[in-house]
Amino acid sequence: MKKKISFKSAYLFPLMIIIMFLLLFVMLFQMRFSITQFVMEQAATDNEMITKEKSALFSSLLDNMSLEAKGILNYSEFAFINIDNEYDARESINDYFYNTNCVKFMYFMRDGRMYDQDARIYLTIDENLKNLITLEEISLSKPFYDTTSKTELIIMYVPNMEADSNVLGIAAYYRVSSIYTIGEFYVSDAGSYYIVDNEGNAVFEKDKGVTVKSLLESYSFPVQEMENILKFIQSKGNTDTVISSFDSAIVSISSVQNIVDWYTLSLLPSTVISDKTSYVIEQTMLISVIIMAVFIIFVIIFLAADNRALRKMERLQNIDPIAECSNQYKFEIDAGELIKSNKTTQYAIIYINIQNFKNIKQLLPLSEVNRMIKNLSEILKKGMVKNLETYGRTADGRMIALIMYKEIQDIEERFNDITEKLKALGPVSGYMMRINAGVYCIDRNARYQVSDMIDRASFAQNSLREDSIVNLEFYHQKSHDDLLRTIALEGFMEKALDNEEFVIYFQPKYDLINNRIYGAEALVRWIRPNEGIVPPSQFINLFERSGYISQLDKFVFTEVCKFQNKMLKQGSRIIPISVNVSRASAEKDGFIEYYVNTKNTYGIKDGFLELEFTESRALEDYDILSKRIKDLKKYGFVCSIDDFGAGYSSFKALQALDFDIIKLDAAFLKTDNTNPKKNANLLSGVITLAKALDMKVIAEGVETRQELMLLRELKCDAIQGYVYAKPMPIADYIIFVEKALRNKTENDNFVG
Ligand code: C2E
Ligand code: CA
Ligand code: CA
Repeated sequence: MKKKISFKSAYLFPLMIIIMFLLLFVMLFQMRFSITQFVMEQAATDNEMITKEKSALFSSLLDNMSLEAKGILNYSEFAFINIDNEYDARESINDYFYNTNCVKFMYFMRDGRMYDQDARIYLTIDENLKNLITLEEISLSKPFYDTTSKTELIIMYVPNMEADSNVLGIAAYYRVSSIYTIGEFYVSDAGSYYIVDNEGNAVFEKDKGVTVKSLLESYSFPVQEMENILKFIQSKGNTDTVISSFDSAIVSISSVQNIVDWYTLSLLPSTVISDKTSYVIEQTMLISVIIMAVFIIFVIIFLAADNRALRKMERLQNIDPIAECSNQYKFEIDAGELIKSNKTTQYAIIYINIQNFKNIKQLLPLSEVNRMIKNLSEILKKGMVKNLETYGRTADGRMIALIMYKEIQDIEERFNDITEKLKALGPVSGYMMRINAGVYCIDRNARYQVSDMIDRASFAQNSLREDSIVNLEFYHQKSHDDLLRTIALEGFMEKALDNEEFVIYFQPKYDLINNRIYGAEALVRWIRPNEGIVPPSQFINLFERSGYISQLDKFVFTEVCKFQNKMLKQGSRIIPISVNVSRASAEKDGFIEYYVNTKNTYGIKDGFLELEFTESRALEDYDILSKRIKDLKKYGFVCSIDDFGAGYSSFKALQALDFDIIKLDAAFLKTDNTNPKKNANLLSGVITLAKALDMKVIAEGVETRQELMLLRELKCDAIQGYVYAKPMPIADYIIFVEKALRNKTENDNFVG
């Protein structure tokens, strides 16, 4: 059995993913400490790098400044050759300083005059400047706050190296903000950045009052640590970087190149770091959540699509598209589960067949045929006991249902109910739908698979004839065994003739008019090795269906000819013997030739071979058979109609076919005894009719003396039946005939 695809397993995968992410969260929390550590280290190196960067930046700025200052000097040299032309100078200078960091500058002349960039003479000399111009090297002032421009400025002084120049040197004022930028640490600007001199005081006006000591103290750095740091900055010209991290902060100090006594100091409080740590964790979690969400969405989309496909597949796998109910596969699964889980419930399988379905299919358009099936399916659906019963459609297009019952009557009622509801729906396309059904009452001890149960219900339904008035049949083990046996026999059939498993019995017939043995009928017996005698009722139909019957009939006929020939040669008295000829045999090509040739080969005289024909089908056309009988009679065969009055043998056959003898079926005798008069009249009528048609009448299946007497009275020509003799092996028959011919008072031999 195929395994059902479980949807539970489909959800297992995303569930696992969720668990995985939860574990990741827990891990992140666990790792918080190590993350902090990591961030600390990262921060320390970053901090160091920033400090170094800042120092380098600051140095390069100063370099640029001095170069600019040098440029000015060269330029101004040229400019100040014609210094008398103040306006020229001013223009040239303005051109040059346009867009620079320089706010103002002044140059000092040998004659003691001092000019600003507008070539105006400054009368007062700043204290700072006074100090500057005495220096013979490029120098930088400490930043100071200029109250007029309201900015912080530094002055750079560049001396003029040309001895004969009018210009002694030049000083430029630079705006501090343009060279001094506070570094941004991470996301928070809680980090601070200072330039300090080697006494530990913040250099810039902006940070006035800030000292390394006060800074470290505010972060409660240990005294020892503080002293180390101060020692570092006091040792002028130290180009190293020192990092000191403490619980509350990380401090990083680096010397500013070119300026011996300045240091950049960056300070990163721990709060920033823990903020950063949380931030890292939060970010990681956020990303995890986003990834997880995206993933889950994908999985859901995938599963939904997959689910749809699965459901479609499952539907295809489980649903009958016409009846819109379970197909056999699904029914078998569901029914199996119901039977298993409701151990005390009595269940039956009902197999419902639409009668004449083949014809309906040819007569009605497909849509209407499907509507019929759908109607039946709907009726079944409404009748089901929820969660305890189920129904479906088989692979061969029959509706099946698993129903509960207490008494057999319940099943009959159930079936009648379905029939009634169908009736109530009225005809489809003018066609009134009729159903018949087979029922298998589940025998739990048998432990059958549901498919076997369906087969059994189907078997019961199959045993119903299309035109029968009964339309519900229950499964009986015996009839099923018979079927199985038939199937088995079919397998043995081909070999049986070669193996000489067929034996002929003779049943004597009695002449009522002359009171003597009149003939015999050859009846075949199949003797199966290790099994014994198989009666014809078990295999004749089967052989007729497979066409094998004509071979068997020929065999029997030949054996009878051989027997007659033997009797002839022995000089014994020859009595007519009849053989059965199935319709299928008679209609075969070469039938006449074979029978006539054989008859001639064994030298059997006319009138000593009789052929019995049975009608096995209704509404025959008699063309072929009629011709055959004519021919047979021409060649000296006696022809009789067998089983007259039973099955399909009819008056029509009498009219169409020129028989010599009518064999009345035992049914004429075995009618009910409530109206013996009527039976006798009927029998009498038939005998009279036969005689009127110039036929002899022989009654079959005569079992009692009473029957015998009645037939004698009615002037029946002959009888065949147990009352006289049963079918017997050839050896017995020979003895029987001898005795019969010797004994004149055969009447006494009658039994019954
Ligand atoms: P049938 O031709 O009607 O043969 C008569 C059947 O009635 C025989 O059954 C015989 O044993 C049985 N019978 C005879 N007297 C009595 C009686 O008093 N009471 C009862 N209850 N039965 C009696 P059997 O031998 O079982 O044969 C059954 C049928 O099989 C035959 O019916 C015949 O149609 C067919 N059959 C037998 N041998 C052959 C054969 O060689 N070829 C063909 N085509 N059919 C054969
Ligand atoms: Ca017969
Ligand atoms: Ca018969």
